[in-house]
Amino acid sequence: MNQWENALSDLDEVAGLLDIPEEYIVILKNPRRSLIVSLPVRMDDGRVEVFQGFRVQHSLDRGPAKGGLRYHPGVTLDEMKALAMLMTWKCALVKIPYGGAKGGVICEPQGMSHGELERLTRRYTSEVGIILGPEKDIPAPDVNTNPQIMAWIMDTYSANVGYSVPEVVTGKPTEIGGSEGRFDATARGVISTIEEACRVTGTTLEGSTMAVQGAGNVGGNVAKLATDKGAKVVALSDVSGGVYNPDGLNLWAVAARILKTGTVCDTPNCENITNEELLALDVDILVPAALGGTITMDNVGAVKARMVAEAANAPIVPEAERALFDRDIFVIPDILCNAGGVTVSYFEWVQNIQSLLWKEEDVYEKLHEIMVYAFYRVLELGKQRGINMRAAAMVLAVDRVTKAIKARGLYP
Ligand code: GLU
Repeated sequence: MNQWENALSDLDEVAGLLDIPEEYIVILKNPRRSLIVSLPVRMDDGRVEVFQGFRVQHSLDRGPAKGGLRYHPGVTLDEMKALAMLMTWKCALVKIPYGGAKGGVICEPQGMSHGELERLTRRYTSEVGIILGPEKDIPAPDVNTNPQIMAWIMDTYSANVGYSVPEVVTGKPTEIGGSEGRFDATARGVISTIEEACRVTGTTLEGSTMAVQGAGNVGGNVAKLATDKGAKVVALSDVSGGVYNPDGLNLWAVAARILKTGTVCDTPNCENITNEELLALDVDILVPAALGGTITMDNVGAVKARMVAEAANAPIVPEAERALFDRDIFVIPDILCNAGGVTVSYFEWVQNIQSLLWKEEDVYEKLHEIMVYAFYRVLELGKQRGINMRAAAMVLAVDRVTKAIKARGLYP
């Protein structure tokens, strides 16, 4: 099954737990809008290369569409549909007034120059610009995109409409309206949910061992923040492989290695391991923070962690996730675990609209409050209904979206 089929199966499962007319589920199984664009880009060697890009808006029921933009060779329309749907649930779960969207371009960003990436981003923004806007759809960083790419989106959109529109995109550099605390917001949200999960399972993050798959914005910052809080991060990986040290990684040495070679592999005083070996490490907390579908029925049996925090989007296929719940492993589902990023994106959008600048401490405090509140709503509903954390998170989210559809009614 591909990611879209998995997303549909999650929705089908929750439909059985909600007392709502089937027609809502039928509506929600279809993304509201899917735009496919061709992006001709002049490459540094003078050739024109045509890239394919997507923007899917799954739902506009609770507000404008919101979601990241990813650059990756594996991007497909079905993946965008699945990730846009996840954004709908995520925004509803943390009660921020957005629907869900996702964008992507099929490309190998690591092999592209700064200029090529800029031209690709500007052309993408211009092509999907017909459905973007602060009241329509607001992109943000995702896999292989960053504040610089958000700045180009803001600049291109602004140039096309003729005035500055910082609120058209979030995750921008702070110099042009980016929010304090947005950069590591996803990781902070992940840590908040892990701390609460530790509390309810009678442990603490301090002193726990952790393995993190993915050394990007989310994984890298989770490893850093967890280390700051006294956890022992024993393994970290990227696409090329991972490094392991049972005494805990020296993250400065790992960061220096990434700066020098572009990968964590061969960091001094560490053992090189594969991504598969990382997932099977005997640790307290496993954090998949890379791409979707990394834990499947083929490798789920090897997972030894006592807690799995889904920092990535859809890192575990539904059947494998159920297998973890059946083994009483505490799984924090993605739509809860990684909702910190979009939550601070919301703060950024609100600040931009009001031309305000919040202090970093205020951003962190409000973020923590929202994450902790959502965590306990999910936990309590799960206990009340005797369902797992994924099902409980989905019940809360889908219920909120269907109530919005009901209130608005069907047009015409
Ligand atoms: N890409 C992030 C996510 O998947 C953030 C989206 C946003 O901030 O809009 O949640």
